[in-house]
Amino acid sequence: MEPAPSAAADEVVGICRDLLRIDTSNTGDPRTTVGERVAAEYVAAQLTEVGIDVELHESAPRRANLVARIPGRDRSRGALLVHGHLDVVPADASEWSVPPFSGEEKDGYLWGRGAIDMKDFDAMMLAVVRDWQRTGVVPPRDIVLAFTADEEAGMEYGSQFLVREHAGLFEGCTEAIGEVGGFSYTVNDDLRLYLVETAEKGIDWLRLHARGRPGHGSFVHDDNAVTALAEAVAAVGRHRFPMVITPTVRAFLEQVSEALGIEIDPDEPEQAIAKLGPIAALIGATVRNTANPTRLEAGYKDNVIPGKASATIDCRTLPGQAEAFLEQLRAVIGPDIEIEHLQRQAALETSFDGALVDAMATALRAEDPGARAVPYMLSGGTDAKAFSTLGIRCFGFAPLKLPADLNFSALFHGVDERVPVEGLQFGVRVLDRLLKAS
Ligand SMILES: [Zn+2]
Repeated sequence: MEPAPSAAADEVVGICRDLLRIDTSNTGDPRTTVGERVAAEYVAAQLTEVGIDVELHESAPRRANLVARIPGRDRSRGALLVHGHLDVVPADASEWSVPPFSGEEKDGYLWGRGAIDMKDFDAMMLAVVRDWQRTGVVPPRDIVLAFTADEEAGMEYGSQFLVREHAGLFEGCTEAIGEVGGFSYTVNDDLRLYLVETAEKGIDWLRLHARGRPGHGSFVHDDNAVTALAEAVAAVGRHRFPMVITPTVRAFLEQVSEALGIEIDPDEPEQAIAKLGPIAALIGATVRNTANPTRLEAGYKDNVIPGKASATIDCRTLPGQAEAFLEQLRAVIGPDIEIEHLQRQAALETSFDGALVDAMATALRAEDPGARAVPYMLSGGTDAKAFSTLGIRCFGFAPLKLPADLNFSALFHGVDERVPVEGLQFGVRVLDRLLKAS
């Protein structure tokens, strides 16, 4: 059955291409992160052209965020926040098959940094509401659109800024959709699982400090900070924290087990997860807390033993596990290493039920009769972290129908990031149905 043509599905490709051509690389350094303002102005023009008022808020020069509210039929209902970030991670053009900011279309894909993370969804949001404005569609409840800066480098200049300084823009928002979810995992021709993000691990970036007695490198020395730190870092890096199966992961494993017709050993789910191919990377780390050493710092001269040494550990914690994790970590590194918290963001988890979830499943099935929506937990973090602090129930739902053989998770921040054009058009139709129904 061919889907009915729609203006939004026609327009989404051009809008996505335009966005991909605006280099919004977020280097993590505000001095060299410059494209967000240009992208926000483009989005503003797309919205104001069809009569939607926008508010543009800069958290710092050129760090632009944009929010718009589309009034619904029943304004007493809680509003739905639909959000996407406009920044992207940098791309090294020498590694790519096409220039990463060309928005080139070939082989059925739109290519470019941000094609799936997440200018595709930004384009869907714009295409749907532009079509509505032209054809007089009014959504059932208020929809708040947010296009954010700085998702890729800590959210400080983006969603965190918005919820801190402009929380009033989100007044009445009860639920939200954004990245990373709604994409398909093909089981067979007649069955595709669409993973809806209902949980996110928490972030705890720590710095470990070891202290010792400074001294000459040629002497006998039994209180060396570098040695103490190295032992702690190696112990953390090799440690496997205990498995904890949260409600989201349990539901996911049950659904996958049934859909694939495989037994998943509840004591060893990682073996089964590893066999899920492309999505294993996204979900593999969601059955336990993790701690990966990422930086080391010590010393200033080859023959001087320094008095201190430090290491950064990227820790990701399951919902409800933040405090238990710290105790476990302390047991691994011993009592003498000092722990400094660099950044902490709570894990999220919501249940996979309610009218919005039902509407997601219905919208997917209307466009793909083989669709089955399943909840999952993302091991990374998104803007949902910030919006959830306002009491908003956040989901990852940026619908995309993907070819069975596409290694989707490898495209996130990867070389040759690209989005299938048909998948993008599918997504716009699903989003249109969802927003009209919810
Ligand atoms: Zn993203």
